[in-house]
Amino acid sequence: MVWWLFKKQRIGIDLGTANTNVYVDGKGIVIGEPSVVALEKDTGEIVAVGEEANNMIGRTPGSIVATRPMKDGVIAEFDTTAAMMEYFINKTRSKWSSKPQVVICVPGGGTEVEKRAVVDAALLAGAREAFLIEEPFAAAIGADLPVNDPTGSMVVDIGGGTTDVATISLGGIVSGRMSRSAGDAMDEAITSFIRNKYNLLIGERTAESVKIELGSASEELAKELGSTEIRGRDLVTGLPKTITIEATDISEAISEVVEDIIDIVKETLEDTPPEISADVIDRGIVLTGGGALLNGLAEAISDATDVPVFVANDPLNCVALGTGLALKHI
Ligand code: ADP
Ligand code: MG
Repeated sequence: MVWWLFKKQRIGIDLGTANTNVYVDGKGIVIGEPSVVALEKDTGEIVAVGEEANNMIGRTPGSIVATRPMKDGVIAEFDTTAAMMEYFINKTRSKWSSKPQVVICVPGGGTEVEKRAVVDAALLAGAREAFLIEEPFAAAIGADLPVNDPTGSMVVDIGGGTTDVATISLGGIVSGRMSRSAGDAMDEAITSFIRNKYNLLIGERTAESVKIELGSASEELAKELGSTEIRGRDLVTGLPKTITIEATDISEAISEVVEDIIDIVKETLEDTPPEISADVIDRGIVLTGGGALLNGLAEAISDATDVPVFVANDPLNCVALGTGLALKHI
């Protein structure tokens, strides 16, 4: 065998509540799949993981459940999370590769015990060593912010289950907030809005796709975005039905979640030391995570705070990239 086949492999995993992205040292981001596991109900046996399992959400027969083990930013199901991690780690390994060193980024919602459980799950899943990194920190590295400099940077990561706000300076988090007002909360708000206004029951996947297609952080912007058709079940007749929904419906539905996100950004700014605030005013706030792509969100945060706001390059991959870059420091 040639020596390099056995060279130490290092991987970075962004174990997100919505998506898991995997960075392999020397290759970049090689995997991006939904954090979903489909299980046989009675035996607990795993039927599918990732993209394949995601396509089963809301469409499973009685004997199979498709779950998102990280849904609320915590590791609700240790075994399922471990199995999911094993699937992703194995996907990066070739026949000859040795056990990898792994850096994992977990959502901000977890307790120390739950975070420790992620390390254990990684070891169980075949990692030689496993380390954790905080999500806003990884996001900031991935967004190319000067995290180690004596300059304040602010990052707002809007994921599926959680929004994490943090100011960072000299390699550490100076101030921050975490909230459940994020992508899933927007989807739930859309579902209940459509149920109440149109008596139409829609699925999780439909709510998310209408948010991505038509969602926006302001009503004025929504007026320019038009409308789309959505399908669901009519709660009166019980039959399938298609209705046309306006972008203004969506902006109204998610407005409270958007307000919450703006509020935690403001609160974080309020308890940030003045020197760091001054840096943030100069350099602006950077948005990462899938929620950063919501139409008009950057402008809405900027209007409310009087600070410039930018969306990072490739916001869905910032955390995985930052986790991967952190590999170089271990
Ligand atoms: P996590 O880190 O929790 O896995 P991600 O950063 O991968 O989350 O972001 C996923 C969230 O971003 C989902 O709630 C998804 O619906 C949302 N999202 C993705 N694209 C858009 C978009 N264009 N507009 C609004 N939300 C989006
Ligand atoms: Mg994330």
